[in-house]
Amino acid sequence: MSETWDAIVVGGSAAGLSAALLLGRALRRVLVVDEGQPRNRFADHMHGVLGWEGESPADLLRRGRADVSRYAVTICEGRAVSVNADDESVTVELADGTAVAGRALVVATGLTDQMPDLPGFAQRWGSTVLHCPYCHGWEVRGQRLGVLALSPMATHQAQLIRQWSDDLTLFTMGTDVDDALRARLASRGVKLVESPVVELLGEGTGLTGVRTEDGVVELDALFAGPTPKPNDDFLADLGLDRADTPMGDFIAIDEFGRTSHPLVYAVGNVINPALTVPMSIGAAAMTGGMVNMDLVTREFDAAGA
Ligand SMILES: Cc1cc2nc3c(=O)[nH]c(=O)nc-3n(C[C@H](O)[C@H](O)[C@H](O)COP(=O)(O)OP(=O)(O)OC[C@H]3O[C@@H](n4cnc5c(N)ncnc54)[C@H](O)[C@@H]3O)c2cc1C
Repeated sequence: MSETWDAIVVGGSAAGLSAALLLGRALRRVLVVDEGQPRNRFADHMHGVLGWEGESPADLLRRGRADVSRYAVTICEGRAVSVNADDESVTVELADGTAVAGRALVVATGLTDQMPDLPGFAQRWGSTVLHCPYCHGWEVRGQRLGVLALSPMATHQAQLIRQWSDDLTLFTMGTDVDDALRARLASRGVKLVESPVVELLGEGTGLTGVRTEDGVVELDALFAGPTPKPNDDFLADLGLDRADTPMGDFIAIDEFGRTSHPLVYAVGNVINPALTVPMSIGAAAMTGGMVNMDLVTREFDAAGA
């Protein structure tokens, strides 16, 4: 652990392991530091992942870890708490007090879905309270669906989810829905409930409906987009450039995952909450290749000098 790694990857899930795989196959010595809390850990099955349709997210990660372990990739359980970097190397401090150094850093720490303080919401997250129709819409197609507006983006989410069911209710939760939008939603039969939802109903992770301040609306599944908070606090000392996006404030990257620091890269949900598992794997594979290419360039520059 005292060596200087070619690359340190913080976050060992879909994105991090994919970047590590490319780097390992490029004969790079890689350290993956992972806390083991992937975003989709609440779901038993994942969908839209070619070759892994309906499989468990945990199985994908088990297989991914085995894949990278065939190369010079070391996986260490731990949490990165701070990072410092100069022009040559990056030092990552871990929660147990150890520090590891690398010639490049790939940040793949995902995000935290900040649940609303609504009774019954968190316990159903990933089973009957869903965030993404591409991931879980097929399983509830044609059923009584709801969209809980946790932000103005929910009116777009409602239009999207109408694709999966013609029995759809948008719970506005105080979101402004103007007359034009009201008419647009009504034109395809989307119902509007303005009375605030105060509780989700049903046994365990099952859902039978929601209670509003005015009564009960029966439902089979509820879609909602909790506020995404990127897991990037530990990078604060780097002062990386940030991008203000419709989905929040994220580390700014170029098309290859490079941040404003030349040795630091970021991939997956930590820079884009809309990336699914295969999108994260794909983007991180490209970034892993780019990290190697940048190391190659530095090595030729140094040899030439
Ligand atoms: C309920 C739910 C269900 C989903 N279902 C699907 C689906 O069916 N299909 C699909 O394609 N997508 C699905 N997704 C989206 C999927 O979770 C993401 O696309 C994917 O997890 C992104 O991968 P990632 O590697 O960027 O982040 P993550 O998978 O979240 O991994 C980040 C890793 O970094 C670790 N980490 C964080 N901070 C630190 C730190 N400081 N130090 C060390 N390690 C750290 C975390 O513990 C975690 O292991 C779902 C999401 C949710 C919320």
